[in-house]
Amino acid sequence: MDIDRLIAHRSRALDWSGIRRFSALARSRPGVINLSIGQPDFAVDPRVKAAAVEAILADRNGYTPNQGVPELQEALAAVIRADLGWDCGVIGPASTPTPSSVIVTTGTSGALTNAYMALLNPGDEIIIPDPYFVLYPQAATLCDARAVLCDTYPDFVMTAQRVEPLITPRTKAVLLNTPGNPTGAVASSEHCAQLLDLCRRRNVLLISDEIYDEFTFAQARTERPAGDLAALGAFGLTRCPSPARLPDAQRDVLVVRGFGKTYGMTGWRLGYVAGPTRLIEELTKIQQYTYVCAPTPLQWAMLGAFGTDVSATVARYQARRDRALERLRRVTDVVTPGGAFYVFPRVPERLGMSGREFCEAAAARGVVIIPGGVFSTRDTHVRISLAAPDGDLDRGIDTVVSLMGA
Ligand code: PMP
Repeated sequence: MDIDRLIAHRSRALDWSGIRRFSALARSRPGVINLSIGQPDFAVDPRVKAAAVEAILADRNGYTPNQGVPELQEALAAVIRADLGWDCGVIGPASTPTPSSVIVTTGTSGALTNAYMALLNPGDEIIIPDPYFVLYPQAATLCDARAVLCDTYPDFVMTAQRVEPLITPRTKAVLLNTPGNPTGAVASSEHCAQLLDLCRRRNVLLISDEIYDEFTFAQARTERPAGDLAALGAFGLTRCPSPARLPDAQRDVLVVRGFGKTYGMTGWRLGYVAGPTRLIEELTKIQQYTYVCAPTPLQWAMLGAFGTDVSATVARYQARRDRALERLRRVTDVVTPGGAFYVFPRVPERLGMSGREFCEAAAARGVVIIPGGVFSTRDTHVRISLAAPDGDLDRGIDTVVSLMGA
């Protein structure tokens, strides 16, 4: 049978992520230093692992409501209330789930793809940052919609000023990612307020992808939570700026957050999304026919883990960032990441190399990093992951610095 003839254009139009090609390089050659990784290099807390095993043994293995385990929804609603000042509504028992403004999703990716599907008709537009997380443009392709790129070079902040000229009658949403992948850049409170104000004036939804919210370094934690967040766990007294913390944001902002990066469990596929109840209702409906629910025993295990102390890990990553920056700055331009796991230095112009060419040269010296062109229309930078053992990171950065300084 000619299977190729049967493939839909939406699938054909997708590209393989360029990350895969470079990370395959790392797998294919023993002994290489792999700085291409987009997930934490620490293990899940043993108590949380035990809770997952316990949930499986206790036969918590069936479906949950599409919105998630109500107890976890309640816990999320409490955190959102204390952090953002939102009222997520009454969460009903599993037998009669009621509409609320927060649901558990199959990873942050599940929340984002459901949001795209709920919002975008064919030909509609969503404004995303450039550089972007690789899912952002491709999920638009899946909906026959168009991702409009907002050029954020050289400081990687998606300002209202940069977004405004891109809004058209087809624009449904603006997607902000802070701290950002691949740059680590954090939007200031002022930038968040201006962007939300613009979105409100133009009746465009603001989606805030905050998957790295807990992974924000000390200097970038400039906001206070709306309430007593610390009473709910080890959340810290200061937070990454968020447009969702602005007055009445619940009406106009869709917040997407995850557990994978914070607690080192990217494979558990757990995230959550909160926003206007009318929209969350649509996301829940779509979840019913796509992912159904997030993995049940893992939702139960997460219930006890949410809000456990990750500050020592974040401090360790901050120290790695500082060591990497200090050396990279001697040879190139690099924005200080306020959070996430990456640094995104520019390939020095005088080398006359693209990001891809530079990454190939680094791979030839046994270090795998990702070309900026995988995340951008430009291929002028490279993404270096900080999620690697300190010794590997130091040696990898040495190689990058010596290539850049050549
Ligand atoms: N958003 C951003 C900015 C990311 O970097 C990632 C993962 N790399 C995701 C969303 C998807 O995360 P998840 O594993 O929760 O689907």
